[in-house]
Amino acid sequence: MAKSPRILLIYTGGTIGMIRDPKSGQLKPFNFTRLLDEVPELSKFDVKISTHSFRTPIDSSDMQPEIWMELAHLIESEYNNYDGFVILHGSDTMAFTASALSFMFENLSKPVVLTGSQLPIGTIRTDGKENLITAIEIAAASHKGKAIVPEVCVYFEYRLYRGNRTNKFNAEHFRAFQSPNYPLLAEAGIHIHYNHAHISKAGKGKLKILPLLDKNIAILKMFPGITPQVVNAILGAENLKAVILETYGSGNVTTEKWFTEAVKSAIKKGVVILNITQCAAGTVEQGRYQTSAQLEKAGVVGGADMTTEAAVTKLMHLLAYCETTAELTRKLKKNLRGELTEL
Ligand code: ASP
Repeated sequence: MAKSPRILLIYTGGTIGMIRDPKSGQLKPFNFTRLLDEVPELSKFDVKISTHSFRTPIDSSDMQPEIWMELAHLIESEYNNYDGFVILHGSDTMAFTASALSFMFENLSKPVVLTGSQLPIGTIRTDGKENLITAIEIAAASHKGKAIVPEVCVYFEYRLYRGNRTNKFNAEHFRAFQSPNYPLLAEAGIHIHYNHAHISKAGKGKLKILPLLDKNIAILKMFPGITPQVVNAILGAENLKAVILETYGSGNVTTEKWFTEAVKSAIKKGVVILNITQCAAGTVEQGRYQTSAQLEKAGVVGGADMTTEAAVTKLMHLLAYCETTAELTRKLKKNLRGELTEL
């Protein structure tokens, strides 16, 4: 008889495990064992589930790169003991965590599925039960002994997404996530339909983690009326190594001379500037319009169709591992973990 798959369920916090404080009326994290008591269905699964709870569960708005490192180390140390991993996480920064983990794992051959919910698991209309149960089923799914989804992904409201292609776009609906530039990896109905053609291939070698991250980055979001003071304050920040320039449309910005000069002088000082569109879908194409040609000329790196979440974590990752700006620039444009479509 085939052995039951083994899953490690990691609880970091988030609404899924919160209760309402009777005094303040605010949602706050609570004890993980009580969370599992709310889902007796899990005992009926032909899956061996072990759990690991963070000592202090957090609202994911308190997420920090140090916790991503802790998660990567935890999964590395338990990698041979389990067939898949499910991370319970608040939805607010889930897309950042999924993106960060995708860059931290090299040769991943087992599923790492992040999920959470919009309503706590103890509430009658919770979306948490379905999300948790199906995430476990996906993490345990295999074919001929090989994991079906050997990548870092997000499962939410009947849909499985590539983690580093997602963003949270809705704070009200149960469907909180989207992946506008990459197809769904799976859809859950009566059956779970996997989109095999779009799921990453398993890594062939041994799992390696690349846990280091460099936080010396910033996001500069364009808006009509942005002042030189604001731009210079960001580009002149102490220890700044890279900036995500959130541009209009296909990568466009104002053509005002002071702005182009500010960008040029930051690049001259060694700051890497990465162009990411503010649009939810589509790609940056520097030089398509006159309003982005000056960026290309100044040496701004086009970020193609990456999400801001993927861009933030990819920059933190590459800054920690690249030895030269040329290497960093080359890798930024390259598809490392399925996070961008190369032009
Ligand atoms: N604020 C919560 C968090 O991100 C929201 C959620 O869990 O959905 O932790």
